[in-house]
Amino acid sequence: MTAYDTDNIFAKILRGEIPSFTVYEDDETYCFMDIMPRSDGHCLVIPKTPCRNILDATPAQLAACMATVSKVANAAKVAFNADGITLQQFSEAAGGQEVFHLHFHIHPRHDGLPLRPAGVMGDMEVIKGHAAAIAAALT
Ligand code: AMP
Repeated sequence: MTAYDTDNIFAKILRGEIPSFTVYEDDETYCFMDIMPRSDGHCLVIPKTPCRNILDATPAQLAACMATVSKVANAAKVAFNADGITLQQFSEAAGGQEVFHLHFHIHPRHDGLPLRPAGVMGDMEVIKGHAAAIAAALT
């Protein structure tokens, strides 16, 4: 398996070298907004320690991420009055992965509303507001 690249964009976010909209963090995980949101409230949960994806993550990294996914998903459902949540994880290029630091996509979903296309930059002020709305719904 390819080695972890310490210069991937999420590693830079974790080091504070590029900005992000924080939703939640604890000792082991960080949750921030996706800047090309495919749904209102689209956010990402990552471990603070390095791993590429589901194929090299340790059980401890996965457990920590899932605890945060559960917390944030419930808050996002409340914040967006969502009908459901879609959780996505892509591993390696063939699996659809573009950033090679393990991450889980959380999408608040509404009945009958499809995800938007990938790769379209969002409005940063709107995204900032969505981060605040999810953070406010965290208990
Ligand atoms: P994937 O690796 O295919 O699961 O997707 C990577 C995700 O990272 C995409 O949804 C991008 O929109 C998102 N993304 C890329 N750069 C940034 C960034 N600087 N801040 C937040 N999200 C990002």
